[in-house]
Amino acid sequence: MSRHRFFVAPDQPLAGETVLDGEEAHHLSTVLRLGPGAAIELLDGQGSVYQGEVLAASRRQVRVRLLEQRWQPPPARRLILAPALLKKKGFDLVLQKATELGVHALLPVLSHRCVAQAKDEVARWPRLVREAAKQCGARYLPELLPPRPLADLAVGRGLGLALHESAGEDLAAFLARSAPPADLLCLVGPEGGWDPEDMGDIRAAGLVPVRLGPRILRAETAALAAAAILQLWLGNLDSGAV
Ligand code: SAH
Repeated sequence: MSRHRFFVAPDQPLAGETVLDGEEAHHLSTVLRLGPGAAIELLDGQGSVYQGEVLAASRRQVRVRLLEQRWQPPPARRLILAPALLKKKGFDLVLQKATELGVHALLPVLSHRCVAQAKDEVARWPRLVREAAKQCGARYLPELLPPRPLADLAVGRGLGLALHESAGEDLAAFLARSAPPADLLCLVGPEGGWDPEDMGDIRAAGLVPVRLGPRILRAETAALAAAAILQLWLGNLDSGAV
């Protein structure tokens, strides 16, 4: 049975009874008009899903009795999608759809040709990610990392790919000759592509340039196509995955 889902705030108790407030309370009581007795699902974004029953609901606060809990361990392999900042519409799409695809983290990257987003738009990102996760019943909420300049991108112990429309190797060929790692970062360029300095930063970060076929894709298409392909490769689109 599909039930309405809500996220519990990290500071709320997760045994016996809990409280929803802010947007979640508003959504439950005002938008969906649910009240005492309603059966809901609560997610903690950390692998747990609780069956819950609404005890009392007002516009500002909802009290919920927590019933059965199920926990799923985190995925063994993690994709960090690192898209360069895009204009609002394209970037919102990337955040929402990458969340639906179950990426582990989203790392906005500042490259030379990307347009900076206004502060209030950046402040909307956590809500966009939460809503997308809620809508698709994600057990894990992607981590939204603070924007980082391309020059400071270090891959650490994992593997890093950089999408480039004129890279010497196709992504398919690269995947065919590689074993899926535990940590994978995928960098995607902005609307205007990479400039020569960015290419220097990409090399310095040890990222492998790969190409997604002969067509020049819009940045958001490239990001989401790569996210889907890589999630499949990592096993995160299997039915047993979280
Ligand atoms: N510099 C180009 C294209 C930019 S496309 C121009 O302005 O004409 C935006 C981003 O999408 C690129 O930086 C790259 O990361 C990704 N991208 C688009 N098409 C791609 C392809 N065929 N293969 C790999 N990456 C691609």
